[in-house]
Amino acid sequence: MEQTSKYAIGFAAIEEMRGELGSEMPVLFFRMFESAVRKRLTTEFSRGYADYLMRDAGKIAGALFAESFTEEAEGPVEFLQSFRALLKGLGYGVLRVEKADLDRLKFAFSISHGIEPSDTEEEGSTGCSFTEGFLSGALSVRFGEEINVKEIACIAGGETSCRYIAGTDV
Ligand SMILES: [Zn+2]
Repeated sequence: MEQTSKYAIGFAAIEEMRGELGSEMPVLFFRMFESAVRKRLTTEFSRGYADYLMRDAGKIAGALFAESFTEEAEGPVEFLQSFRALLKGLGYGVLRVEKADLDRLKFAFSISHGIEPSDTEEEGSTGCSFTEGFLSGALSVRFGEEINVKEIACIAGGETSCRYIAGTDV
């Protein structure tokens, strides 16, 4: 797979380091890690600031992901298609592009079966700030402008998928 060499550049030769264990691991460990970091941040800071830090970390990851796994020469539609295929293929979640206004850089996405929503939230609340940042970082890298992402509905809050809006003014 072509991504293998990009893995080695951006993600420190995961396959080599992991040997026979390979590059996969259960979602359980991501959720455990994410939930532990979030819990630690919310004991130190307010919920809002903890979300901000998770979102900002997600932005770094999303930018690195887009730089490492997608082709710079791709047009916007091809980028969205390959981004979607990568997120599904690598097990992050099933991304649907609900709306894409490429002139005004306004988007709406949903992610079902995502890796992030791990905590049981109160009804109507959202919980995927890392994913907000991840999408933001990836979109900003590929569209060359700061694109912010806000989750407007979350599986953790009782919805059937996590839904996001994105844009330069979000
Ligand atoms: Zn969510």
